[in-house]
Parts: sequence; C-alpha cells; structure tokens
Amino acid sequence: MAKAKELPLRKDVPVQLTWDLTTVYKNDDAFETDFNEIEKELVPVKKLAGSLSEGAGQLLKATEFILAVNRKLEKVYVYAQLKNDQDTSDDKYQAMFARCESLAAQFGAAMAWFDPELLQLSEKTMSKYYQDEPKLKAFKRLFDQTFEKRDHILGNDVEEVLAGAGDIFSSGEKTFGILDNTDLSFPVVTDENGKQVKLSQGVYAILLESADQNIRKQAFEKLYEVYDQFQHTLAATLTTNVKNHNFKAKIRKYHNALQAALSANEVPTVVYDNLIKVVNEHLDLLHRYVALRKKILGVDELHMYDLYTSLIGKKSPRYTFDQSKQIALEALQIMGPDYVSHVKEEFDNRWVDVVENQFKRSGGYSSGTYDTNPFILLNWKDNLDNLYTLIHGTGHSMHSYYAHHNQPYQTGDYSIFVAEIASTTNENILTDYLLNKFKNNDEMKKQILNYYLDGFKGTVFRQTQFAEFEQFIHEQDASGRPLTANFMNDYYLSLNQKYYGDAVVSDRQIGLEWSRIPHFYYNFYVYQYATGFAAASTLADNIVNGDSSNVEKYLNYLKSGSSDIPTNVMKKAGVDMTKPEYLEKAFAIFENRLDEFEKLF
Ligand SMILES: [Zn+2]
Repeated sequence: MAKAKELPLRKDVPVQLTWDLTTVYKNDDAFETDFNEIEKELVPVKKLAGSLSEGAGQLLKATEFILAVNRKLEKVYVYAQLKNDQDTSDDKYQAMFARCESLAAQFGAAMAWFDPELLQLSEKTMSKYYQDEPKLKAFKRLFDQTFEKRDHILGNDVEEVLAGAGDIFSSGEKTFGILDNTDLSFPVVTDENGKQVKLSQGVYAILLESADQNIRKQAFEKLYEVYDQFQHTLAATLTTNVKNHNFKAKIRKYHNALQAALSANEVPTVVYDNLIKVVNEHLDLLHRYVALRKKILGVDELHMYDLYTSLIGKKSPRYTFDQSKQIALEALQIMGPDYVSHVKEEFDNRWVDVVENQFKRSGGYSSGTYDTNPFILLNWKDNLDNLYTLIHGTGHSMHSYYAHHNQPYQTGDYSIFVAEIASTTNENILTDYLLNKFKNNDEMKKQILNYYLDGFKGTVFRQTQFAEFEQFIHEQDASGRPLTANFMNDYYLSLNQKYYGDAVVSDRQIGLEWSRIPHFYYNFYVYQYATGFAAASTLADNIVNGDSSNVEKYLNYLKSGSSDIPTNVMKKAGVDMTKPEYLEKAFAIFENRLDEFEKLF
C-alpha cells in the first residue's frame, strides 16, 4: 500500500477543495433529527394500506405523505453516503450510512402495498378520482408509470412467490460476481518498468495502454488463460441470468426479454433495433479507424490488445483543476449565461470534492437529491482525461439542477436513458471547443482527436457489439438453444470479426470476452451508452453549429426531469431517438473527425 501513504488524510485536504455538506445538514445532529422523524413515520405509512379505494381524497393523502417521507429519506441517505465516500475508513459515517440503508429497506417494506393497491384502481375509477380531487392531477405522470405495468402484473399469489424468490433468480449474477471479484486468481505479469505485478481487471486496463506491444500481449494472454479455464462455469452463470430474464418476460406476457427490460424504462424497442441496424451499416468506419491505428502504430500485426494504447505517445497535456475549471467555463459559454451562472455556482460554492485522499471512494460521480446541491466526487489528476471527467460530471449536475428547479418533487428526477446524454453533450462541446482553440496546433489536435475517436469506438461501437451479443443469447435461449461456452465463444469471435474487420488478427482468446463482462448481467443496459453518446453528438453539433433556439431546446430537456417518457423528453431537445437520423449524424461527425485525424499523419 505504498501509494496510500503518499495521499493526504481527509483532515489534511484544504477545505476549498472539499464539498460543502453543511448545506445539506448544518451538523450531524440535524441529520439525526430527520432520521428519527422518518423512523417514526414508518408506522403511519403502513397504516395507510387499504385506503386507496376509499376515495380520491385518500389517494391524495397517501401519495403526498409517502412522497414527503421519501423525499426526507433521500436527503438523509445522500448526506450519509457522501460523508462515507469521502473517507470510507471513518467508523462514524460507515455506521451512519449502514443505518440509512437499513432505513431505506424498512421504508420500502412499509410502502410495499402502494403499487399493488394502486393497480387495483380501474381506469374508470381513476378518471373519477381526477374529477373529484383535481390536486391528484399533479401525480398523474407518477401513477401512469405504475399503470404502464398493469397488463404485466400477475395475481397476488404469483407476485408474492416471485418477490420471495428474488435471491434465487439473481443467483447467476451473484455467483459471477463472487467468482470474478473474489475467487478467480490471476497470475503475476511484468509491467513496463520490469516490475512483477499481480494481474487484476484494473492492472489489465493499465497494461493495455502500455506503449510496449509485448507488455500488452502478455497481459492479454495471461488474463484469458484464467477465463479460458473457467469458461464453462461462466457460461452456466450467464445462462442462469439469461433464463431468469426470459422466464420473467414470458410469464409477464412480454414479447421477449428485450421488450420487458426496455419497457421498465419506457423505452420503445425500436430504439434498440435502430441502434444495431445503423451501427452495422457504418462498421466500415470502425474498420477504417482500426486500419489507421495499425499504420500509425507501425505494427506488423494488429491485435485486440493494441486498441487501447495512445496513438500519440505519452505527451498528454497537463491541466490543473483551476485551469480545467477555466477551460470548462469557456467551452460552456455557448450554453448561454444562465447555464454558465450555475456552473460558476458549482465551482464557487464547493459542490465538488476534488482531490484524492486516503480511503476516499475511487472514480468520479455526480450525486445529490431534490433538496441538496448536485455534488460531484472526483479523484483529481492533472490530465486531459480529468478535464473531461469534470465537464462530464458538470453535465450531470446541471441536469439535476435544472430538473430540481423546474419540476415538482415527483418528476424532479430523470431516467438512466436520458442521464448520460447531458454529461456526454458537455464532453462533445468540449471536444469541439478544444479542436477550435487548437486549430493551428497539430500536436494538440492529434491528442484531442485520438481521445474523441477512442471514446466513440469504446462507447458507440463496442457497447453496440455488446448489445447485439446480449440480444442474440437471449433469443437463442428463448428458442431452446443451449448456451454452451463453445457456442458463445464461436458467436462472439465472429461478431468481433464483423465489428473490427480484417485489419485485426482474430485471436482465439477474444471469443472468451463475453465471459468477463459484468454488464451482461445488467439486463439490456449497455445500449444506453451508445444511444446516449450518439444523441449527445447530435445535440452538441446542433448547439455549436445551429442558432440559439437549439440551446433553449436543450435546456428544456434538462428542465423536463421525468415529466414525460424519455423519448418524448429528448424530442424536446431536438433529437428523435425513435428514428435513425440522430445516429446517422453522429457517424457523419465521426467520419469527419476520422478524416481530419488521418490527414494529420
Ligand atoms: Zn455519467
């Protein structure tokens, strides 16, 4: 743990570089006051059970009360979580967070009656309720999200069995997690400095960025030796997971698992179909990029382990946090004075927890709730990547800010499907800004284009490849085909060949990649990275190259929260994600930038 010693202790981090959680609760006592209140309110939440059929007034009363408790619960939860994340070794906040998790579970149990009872109310009853008590209309969108599932809810007995068997249904995912995170043991490999390091997922990702092909090759081969050995077990865990989705989709009368998963987020399946179709029509662009990679790297053979190393060498530009804030503000000027004023608020009022300290949670995220600022956690390093992380997090935080300030509590959140669009639009605006700023500086342009092209490859192409695989295995299982390791290896290898083309040597090991991707246990989740990036490319382009009405439309999307279904919210911003055009446009931008990059060499 030599590295941990070099990091400051939490108490030694300059206050200006920490988030200000006193804006959530003045002190821990204030947290305790809310916490105790919620505990007491669990009893009346339970007691409201059975009241919804009594009349419109009862439905209003129950809804308002439960939402009020939920709102307070979110606030105590976020406070404890952020306190815990800033220093995970602090017993006090560990305990505080654990108490909140348990309180959230208790609240979930206390209000479990609500949805089933609401579903008992017929459409006719509901329209009468809205007439009897017009205040209920404010919650129509919330109710409709539950009614959406009406045709797919089973009898009480069956629902009870399904709920009770939740642990059993998720056993495939759980077994995979334990095997992959704990039991699998990886061999020792040599790193760039000639040091022996034990391979792990994290070390693997770093070694694949090495400038030395031998280091990359060794990491790749050693990693897959392990997955090769466990491929049949991993095929079994994945099969269990697929069967779980297919079984539930079938008994709940969905066409298939894809439709079941997407409709849970109110996304029509045409969005998924379009993505796979349009990406397949543009695979030649990925083939071109990969061939260019081979040329620039000057290797005799290009392998899958050669796709992550920088094409520009190690001279990544260094930006301090202060410089990055300045660049972000300049890049985001195009979003207009209102947006910029809130970004300044974020920077000036300590919404961001900047530096890495001992035992701080790794990575970066934006988090908060309706009654708090949208905070950002970072583990800052002076490089281009972190500049992008800052502007990405700022995109999420501005989305939260606008949603919270323009929607009532019940529609003040937003779905995963639209979330990554706000963050990646900012990234795309930054790319455009930097390309323009450095238009006479070829070295910087290469850096930025390399970053963009690799991001597009990893987000649009790679995630769609995953989405295609995910759909395939669900369909195969549904048609009765056993998902053996060999069957999945063969399919994955051919899919990989189709995506990356002839410039890449098709090493047998890459056929095993499916076996180590945790996202295949997420239930049709990854496609949203690809659709999100493509929508963001289009939106950023509209904002940068269009007139100011595009900014206004974009802000309307941020302000919409969850007040409408996700594809309708995005229509307000100017992208129709049920049509293929936004994808076409994203590829056109990719192609332009690929041309530009090619010319620089
Ligand atoms: Zn994000």
